[in-house]
Amino acid sequence: MTYFRFELLHTSKKSRARVGKIHTPHGVIDTPNFVAVGTNGTLKALDNDMVQKIGLQLMFCNTYHLMLQPGTEVVRQAGGLHRFIHRDMPIITDSGGFQVFSLAYGSVANELKSKGIKKTDGMVLKISEDGVLFRSYRDGSKMLLTPETSIQAQKDLGADIIIPFDELPPYHIEKKLLIESLERTHRWEERSLKEHLKDPQQQAMYAVVHGGVDVELRAKSCSFLSKLPFDGFAIGGSLGKTKHELFELLDHTVVQLDASKPNHLLGIGDLESIEQSIPKGIDTFDSSYPTRAARHGVAITSQGPLNLTKGEYRNQFRPIDATCSCPTCANFTLAYIHHLFKAKEMTALTLASVHNLHQMVEIMKAYRQKILQDQI
Ligand SMILES: [Zn+2]
Repeated sequence: MTYFRFELLHTSKKSRARVGKIHTPHGVIDTPNFVAVGTNGTLKALDNDMVQKIGLQLMFCNTYHLMLQPGTEVVRQAGGLHRFIHRDMPIITDSGGFQVFSLAYGSVANELKSKGIKKTDGMVLKISEDGVLFRSYRDGSKMLLTPETSIQAQKDLGADIIIPFDELPPYHIEKKLLIESLERTHRWEERSLKEHLKDPQQQAMYAVVHGGVDVELRAKSCSFLSKLPFDGFAIGGSLGKTKHELFELLDHTVVQLDASKPNHLLGIGDLESIEQSIPKGIDTFDSSYPTRAARHGVAITSQGPLNLTKGEYRNQFRPIDATCSCPTCANFTLAYIHHLFKAKEMTALTLASVHNLHQMVEIMKAYRQKILQDQI
């Protein structure tokens, strides 16, 4: 394949940490790297022109949200997601499966609740071998998400990396049911791949490794998916209740993946998890952590987290972080940003988000340097 390629540049002598380059039709993603989450085709409080200037090489958009609003058909008419959102660097989309199953099990249900949208038990109407029938929270219409409809939606969006449709079983589940779920997910992933390969459209597809926190089932999933012509791997499903559980799971899982293909850890990207997972061989991480922290007034700095709303900063006429070269730190003082937070100005969220994302870019750059020098 010429339009998508993983180039492994160096594996550390000290750990499984590695440095590489993922080549896509919209440019290179240096790994390990942080992937910003732009659910609706935007990072909250930032426009995509700024996001590109910050240098975030990969952006994660959610198919489920874009299916409901504005509809993937509209994005297709616009010429695809890159054109629609004004981004010419790589994009990854998920299958929508995570959100649909979260309607039943958690995070999306909570998200709707926080927006004042009442969750009704009827939102997921039916789960069958074919897929999931659910009700749109926007207009109440019935929608069917199957491996085929998810891939068609992701074809409309046209991201560089796409994800097969999978089931997200809850953390607490009987082993028998987890096995059934895993086997169905494998069948769904195979169907997704088949649908994708009918018309690859210069997109790459990552398999999603499942099996919950069961080491044996994770191994089974790696072995099954490795036999299929996927372009990379995403580690998904329940990743444990604690960080300890996550790291243990990664220890067992990453070694079983084909090292010549890139891998991605789904939905985890806080600083501690990144630090602990890089030596285990993870290439990319997606998380809304830096933008969410910024919206809560927390700045990532070389000295640790800094709470911008603290009274002591009201007359600190210095940048958030003197070592930072981001546009926020170049142009604005801590006192001014503190004032904007206190005055509840939207600009506060923008300035803090720019800074935090720039920090992530720099942190990942530093990790790559350390791996190249075998320090990690
Ligand atoms: Zn800064």
